Amino acid sequence: MRHFRYLEDAAILRLDTDTCIGCGNCALVCPHRIFVLKEGKAEIIDRGACMECGACATNCPVGAIYVNPDDGCGCAAYIINSWIAKVRGKVPSGCGC
Ligand code: SF4
Ligand code: SF4
Repeated sequence: MRHFRYLEDAAILRLDTDTCIGCGNCALVCPHRIFVLKEGKAEIIDRGACMECGACATNCPVGAIYVNPDDGCGCAAYIINSWIAKVRGKVPSGCGC
C-alpha cells in the first residue's frame, strides 16, 4: 500500500497487544493490510497506510484497537480521491475536508 497514504505517522491507530486474543478479525477486514498475526497476536506492519475507516476496531471482540474516524487524520477522502484521480489520469487535488 505504498501509494495509498496521506500523512506519514499521522494515523491515530493504536493496538493494545496485551488485550489482543489473536482472533485475526483485524487482519481479515482491513482493506489496507495494516495487520498481520504473529505468534497469536496482531501486529501493525504499515501504520502509514491506515485510512482510519474504523473497520478493525469495530470488529475487534475485545476492544484492543483504537481508531476513531471522527477525529482521524489518515483522511479516507483524500485516499479515495487519489484513487479516482489516478484511474482518470489526473493529479489528486486534495480531500475537500
Ligand atoms: S482503520 Fe481501517 S485502514 Fe486503518 S487499520 Fe483499521 S481497518 Fe485498516
Ligand atoms: S481483532 Fe482484536 S483481538 Fe482480534 S487479532 Fe485483531 S486486535 Fe487481536
